[in-house]
Amino acid sequence: MSLLAVRNLGKSFGAVVAARDVGFTLERGEMLALIGPNGAGKSTVFNMIGGQLRPDRGQVLLDGRDITSASPQRRFRQGVGRTFQVAQTFLSMTVAENVQMALISGRRETQELSGPVRVRHRDEALALLGLVGMQDAADRACSALAYGDVKRVELAIALAGQPKLLLMDEPTAGMAPRERAALMDLTASIAASRSIGVLFTEHDMDVVFGHADRVLVLLRGEIIAAGAPDAIRQDARVRQAYLGD
Ligand code: ADP
Ligand code: MG
Repeated sequence: MSLLAVRNLGKSFGAVVAARDVGFTLERGEMLALIGPNGAGKSTVFNMIGGQLRPDRGQVLLDGRDITSASPQRRFRQGVGRTFQVAQTFLSMTVAENVQMALISGRRETQELSGPVRVRHRDEALALLGLVGMQDAADRACSALAYGDVKRVELAIALAGQPKLLLMDEPTAGMAPRERAALMDLTASIAASRSIGVLFTEHDMDVVFGHADRVLVLLRGEIIAAGAPDAIRQDARVRQAYLGD
């Protein structure tokens, strides 16, 4: 059984069809890229899987379980994680505290967060920071980090929820090309070692073709091609519609 199965998803905003009959599966440990030009419907698909958006039709199944109408919080507890933007990390807190907060919220602990957050789950937070190469920055304020390092911390925060499926909508936006590749290298190695399925979007085609196990191409809300990176790169329809041939 696939980790994620998406069936016949449809979503319209007024006259705009943002997703039409979108269907695909994603396996454990797989890096699956969803690509397409701006406005193709990528974020709409992400949000229907994450639960931020209710589809007009179709189903989302995680481990065979229908989560189509589950809240984002419930999906999170069932293993759907996503990376969030910089603004959603608490910039004045330290790197370790941010990860500790994520560990606490992942376990739905309800105690006061002032004070005790400094000690709770610290070892586990340090281990996650070690995984993303940020252990040395544990006690620095997030606001003092370089942009690429904030992205690594965001990855550690997402991993704190122990996701089975990780949704990464433009995780490398704003990063330099070399940093992009490094972040996706890191993501791929963690995904493989923990059997996490990753669905990601990315504008840099070198990064897509270098890191995805499989690529889905979305155009005007529809999947027009799906396959291995090499096949997608050579697909005439994709080249014409999207890669600029
Ligand atoms: P992408 O992430 O591929 O750039 P989106 O999923 O954000 O594409 O958008 C797909 C289409 O749906 C676009 O035409 C966009 O303008 C429209 N759209 C997305 N979200 C909304 C919304 N909340 N309200 C109205 N239109 C939306
Ligand atoms: Mg988008």
